[in-house]
Amino acid sequence: MEKPEIWIEFAAELHVFVGTSRRAGWSAVRTDGTSTLGHLVESLGVPLTEVGALRTADGPVSAAHVPVPGERISVLGMPRPQQLAGPARFLLDVHLGTLARRLRLLGIDAAYESVDIGDPALAARSAAEQRVLLSRDRGLLHRRELWAGAYVYSHRPADQLRDVLSRFAPPLAPWTRCTACNGTLRDAAKAEVREQLRDGTERSYDVFAQCTDCERVYWRGAHHSQLDAIVAAAVAEFGELGRP
Ligand SMILES: [Zn+2]
Repeated sequence: MEKPEIWIEFAAELHVFVGTSRRAGWSAVRTDGTSTLGHLVESLGVPLTEVGALRTADGPVSAAHVPVPGERISVLGMPRPQQLAGPARFLLDVHLGTLARRLRLLGIDAAYESVDIGDPALAARSAAEQRVLLSRDRGLLHRRELWAGAYVYSHRPADQLRDVLSRFAPPLAPWTRCTACNGTLRDAAKAEVREQLRDGTERSYDVFAQCTDCERVYWRGAHHSQLDAIVAAAVAEFGELGRP
């Protein structure tokens, strides 16, 4: 018996995941007649974390829908900002350390481990802590255990940051989180942190903060200019959007 044929089209933002023959509008797909639409979309290369809606001529369908012969299905991208079922908290895979530090700089809860704990452990942590897994690894994003996930589109940290901020619109609270460990910062008096300061630092600065987890000390100084620029750019573009 001939396998059923359906027609499928992908939104432009999903073209990066599919073969070139599927980037120019409708294309035909043979299905096995029993697999779900979600399975089919994934088999064509698109993580379901990136799919905002699936539509047939009769209206929206879920990923559990089993396509019928001749059906025409539009695969739409995720709307921005994307709504989450809980607070915008993240977990980043081992390749996204720079992005993790930049998110923390903006006060966004961004868990990251510099050693590769493996895909199953990452997915389990996403589920246990209700964190959005950020990754450029499609295989990781296919894992069913994920609480939520998002593909990071760019290689460049500056673009990665804009991608995550525009997608999830997390509230921004710059300079409230430790960039080294993701702990929260508290204000600290100079006398409390004196032991950890070099002479020049003690003389020059009065505003300090200390991580409540790893006790690292932060101060506002001239060497922050690059970080200041990152914060200023993010607040200028996304501060309004990210307000709780
Ligand atoms: Zn810390």
